[in-house]
Amino acid sequence: MARMINTVTGPVSTDDLGAVLAHEHVIFGYPGYEGDASFNVWDEERFFGVVEPVIEKIKQQGIKTIVDCTTNDLGRDVEMLKKVSVRCGVNIITVSGYYYERGGAPGYWNFRRNFGFPAEEEIYELMKREYYDGIAKTGIKAGALKVASGIGEITDYELMFFRAASRIAKEDPGVRIITHCSHGTMLKEQAAFFVEQGVNPAQVQLGHFCDTVDLSAQLDVVGQGFYAGFDRLGQVGFDGMPYDDDRFAAIVALTGAGFGKQIVLSNDRLYWFLGREFPFPEAVTENLIKEWHWTYIFEKVLPKLRSMGLSEEQVHDLMFENPKHFYAGA
Ligand SMILES: [Zn+2]
Repeated sequence: MARMINTVTGPVSTDDLGAVLAHEHVIFGYPGYEGDASFNVWDEERFFGVVEPVIEKIKQQGIKTIVDCTTNDLGRDVEMLKKVSVRCGVNIITVSGYYYERGGAPGYWNFRRNFGFPAEEEIYELMKREYYDGIAKTGIKAGALKVASGIGEITDYELMFFRAASRIAKEDPGVRIITHCSHGTMLKEQAAFFVEQGVNPAQVQLGHFCDTVDLSAQLDVVGQGFYAGFDRLGQVGFDGMPYDDDRFAAIVALTGAGFGKQIVLSNDRLYWFLGREFPFPEAVTENLIKEWHWTYIFEKVLPKLRSMGLSEEQVHDLMFENPKHFYAGA
């Protein structure tokens, strides 16, 4: 059954999501960029010059919705996302949550916790407010909660967010959680945590699920009902990431095992870095992120999966039906 979910321009029916990029970043800033303000090169016209033609292209392929997973501490700018949504005619879902401790901006909540404030309770209130009432004074509501863990561990800091989000998801079966598994680690541990907290696995999309080649761990968690984010397509061979051929093989294997309806696809593309200009070195753009853009999935990934034996229906599910069911529920 269809459900209304929050986008940056207001509620949209899950029946109207079209094809969905399940985990992207339209604008992104590594914590600390704010301090580099004297060299900040934000240029709105240039930004639209880059992003608008790409969105135009992906819309022609059926993509109507982008889930922007940028957390509160990575430069999330919901008013700019709303501008993009209106100007480019695409749904954008934003999230409430924080990045993992080593990669995010843990100073603030650790400070509060160390001084005896009930930081976890405050995080719970923050996420709830952003999901139900809106972010700051914008009236824009988060459409999902985001939590993240580091490489090979879920720290005490990260657990505050995991517990707060779990509590909200348990109270409201409509709430969705998207996670970040650094280097594809902690899939089983995240899954076990949510189960222990009483969260329905169907409410959780394990992010960067595709960054491990451990098929037994992947089968274990999809077997429990979690959604699998093959969300870094086009980024390969660095920062703990395998190659896309490994990811395609995993998609085929999981689909063959009967879990094709739990797989969602995306690129985790960072379209605009806040702060100083950041051109990747040519060696990287020509090799490791050669295909890291929003048209890659329709142009190359889906045809490849068809050639590997997936049916037309199974391929269609990946972009259209699976994300719709993730947000709509059973
Ligand atoms: Zn991401």
